[in-house]
Amino acid sequence: MADLLNLLRRVVEAVTSARDLKLSLQRLVNMVRNGMQVDACTVFLWDSSVERYVLMATDGLRDDAIGKVTLTKNEGMIGLVGKREEPLNLANSNLHPNYHHVPSVGEEEFHGLLAVPIIHNRKLLGVLSVQRFKAERFRDEEEAFLVTLSAQLAGIIAHAEATGTLSGMNLMGGQAGNDIRFAGVACASGVAIGQAYVVTPTISLDSVRYSKAKNIGEELRRFAAAITGLRKELADTRERLKGELRPEELALFDVYAGILDDQAVGGTVQEKIRAGESALSALADTMRGYVQHFEDMDDAYLRERASDMRDLGQRLLTHLMEEKSERKIPDGCILVGQDISATVFGSLDPEKIGGIVCAQGSANSHLAILARALNIPTVLGAQDIPWQELDGNELVVDGYRGHVYYHLTDERREYFEDLVRDEKVRVSGLDALADLPGETADGEHIDLMINTGLQTDIIRSQASGADGVGLFRTEIPFMMLGRFPSEEEQAKIYRNQLEAFHPRSVTMRTLDIGGDKSLEYFPIVEDNPFLGWRGLRVTLDHPEIFIVQVRAMLRASFGLNNLRIMLPMVTSVGEVEDSLALIHRAVYELNEEGVKVEVPEVGVMIEVPSAVYLVKEFMSMVEFVSVGSNDLTQYLLAVDRNNPRVADIYDSMHPAVLKALKIIVSAGLEKNVPVSVCGELAGDPLGAVTLLGLGYRNLSMSSANLLRVKAVLRQIDSGWAETVANGLLNLDDPKVIRSTLQLALQKTGVPLTSLGLLPSR
Ligand code: PEP
Ligand code: MG
Repeated sequence: MADLLNLLRRVVEAVTSARDLKLSLQRLVNMVRNGMQVDACTVFLWDSSVERYVLMATDGLRDDAIGKVTLTKNEGMIGLVGKREEPLNLANSNLHPNYHHVPSVGEEEFHGLLAVPIIHNRKLLGVLSVQRFKAERFRDEEEAFLVTLSAQLAGIIAHAEATGTLSGMNLMGGQAGNDIRFAGVACASGVAIGQAYVVTPTISLDSVRYSKAKNIGEELRRFAAAITGLRKELADTRERLKGELRPEELALFDVYAGILDDQAVGGTVQEKIRAGESALSALADTMRGYVQHFEDMDDAYLRERASDMRDLGQRLLTHLMEEKSERKIPDGCILVGQDISATVFGSLDPEKIGGIVCAQGSANSHLAILARALNIPTVLGAQDIPWQELDGNELVVDGYRGHVYYHLTDERREYFEDLVRDEKVRVSGLDALADLPGETADGEHIDLMINTGLQTDIIRSQASGADGVGLFRTEIPFMMLGRFPSEEEQAKIYRNQLEAFHPRSVTMRTLDIGGDKSLEYFPIVEDNPFLGWRGLRVTLDHPEIFIVQVRAMLRASFGLNNLRIMLPMVTSVGEVEDSLALIHRAVYELNEEGVKVEVPEVGVMIEVPSAVYLVKEFMSMVEFVSVGSNDLTQYLLAVDRNNPRVADIYDSMHPAVLKALKIIVSAGLEKNVPVSVCGELAGDPLGAVTLLGLGYRNLSMSSANLLRVKAVLRQIDSGWAETVANGLLNLDDPKVIRSTLQLALQKTGVPLTSLGLLPSR
């Protein structure tokens, strides 16, 4: 088994560093045939353009069958495995009723067959098989190995397929058409066309895949700069440790510097770049080779040096990533990355960003929330997108459908340009609603509030005619700084908000960090951050942070008295008691200092299941509650709000969430405590109608959605919404719930375009 594990690692490494799909697969079949000691190893991939399996690589069957032999969906053992999506382990495949003899592959002599499906994100990519002349079943451990290998390869093949498609080839070796499309999660609606600007994070040596150099001279320059950077880092470290290390230990730094020379790593990488490989891919491939070389050594001491090589490679990679391209961020660019944090995004000028695309993330990641607030069309979780290779290319972000286009035909470009124009007209049509009240057609008033965080939100929200701020995410200004802001600095920021909206109320949430919101200067590293040290848990453990923040809020509200304080991620009564005690202490201290402030209204966010069950207890302690539907959905459904793999099952219109929302609003009526919703559900027109029907009369959302929601609410009656919402509570599927509501709205004459569900044509 150890041998098979070793083989698995080697195959995955070899395939990762291969330069194209065909070469990857050929390496794979060669290595598997030798490593498993089988008589043939073959890969068939499904080519949807011709609706057939294509023999892509083989070691053992006839070479001239590669790229030529194809099978239909139902043909042979391959078809059977693909259809069943299960492994097949047969002692004598020739006797199986599905056996299909293809004369041109030369498999008459084989009997034993083990074939496993290759599946990526529920999609069948192909079938991997091994065969032996001998008529006997494969051992269990061999079957386990092939299944594991296929699971690992699926991601690599999906990527290689995407990259191969990008270079213009389809599986049959012909030219693929234009309009290459990648699917992700639609996170902020709208369409953007612009030049890709890739934001590169630190990535691991093992995750770098083969990519071509766009400009060999530029790649050589970047690599040389990275070498210089690392040499300097090594020299600085050596200098710093001079007094602490023995001379022979210090000499190691010279050895490392030597490895970077042109005679070693430097030369090999440059050679690869000159042959057309990107600096990133050449460097990673070379360093992996060095690591492997050391790992294979007999001498235990030398074997251990493999980890030094890995460390050196990783550092060099970091320098290379930091070595920014000299290109300036272009106007209206499409920001592209593997995973762009809200902090990195905050450091860029939002006016320059036309759209956002990431391989990771999902509709409720904080990046998505910021993007929606700024009205930037965004697609996250486009897992297969070769993001590293897109810099400088023209992309289209279709934030309605969650698609990203590359290689546009003129026809497609025209279509999207028209959409962008139509969208502008539609949005400007909504401006007229800003001065009209947020009320239903039958005159029921709904407070339409906005969620803020960015400085620019103040200006944007003025134009939306909001009734106040329902959620000020105070962690956003904390993220923009390189350190904790002082009480004075915070007071200034808060005063700005309170003054801008006075006399309307501003609900300020105490610092909500942890989960996917980290402060660079206060890192929280945990295995399970969403269930870890988050929100109120952090600030109650650090009362000094909590008190300073509350003092700053109170001082900012002096003379205005439109402040409300809200507590995030509350799970138990004790946390509310402790928070209230701290808030009272801050008021007392300020009064002692001569700043005569009063205890403001305090509220609790309902974001976790325990808070739903304790909502009445909380209502006896505070003045209001607000539902954080983003987290409530995440925790009720046990679905990570950031993970694109489960994005399909993250839905705030899930019946369990709707039932919880009903419990909360009913408790509010019973206890006479105001209840609002400040999660993204409130800014989704379908969500807002549902909330209205459930009994909510206070919704807080990003300013970009406010007029759209107002437009829909003004077209319907509250009684109608109540009847529809009660009906929705009896349905058990979120998709059916959405379409039922959509249909009901359409029947009353509300156009789909005003729901933000479809582009306006
Ligand atoms: C929520 O969870 O719904 C919420 C409003 O808070 P955040 O999105 O900032 O976690
Ligand atoms: Mg939350």
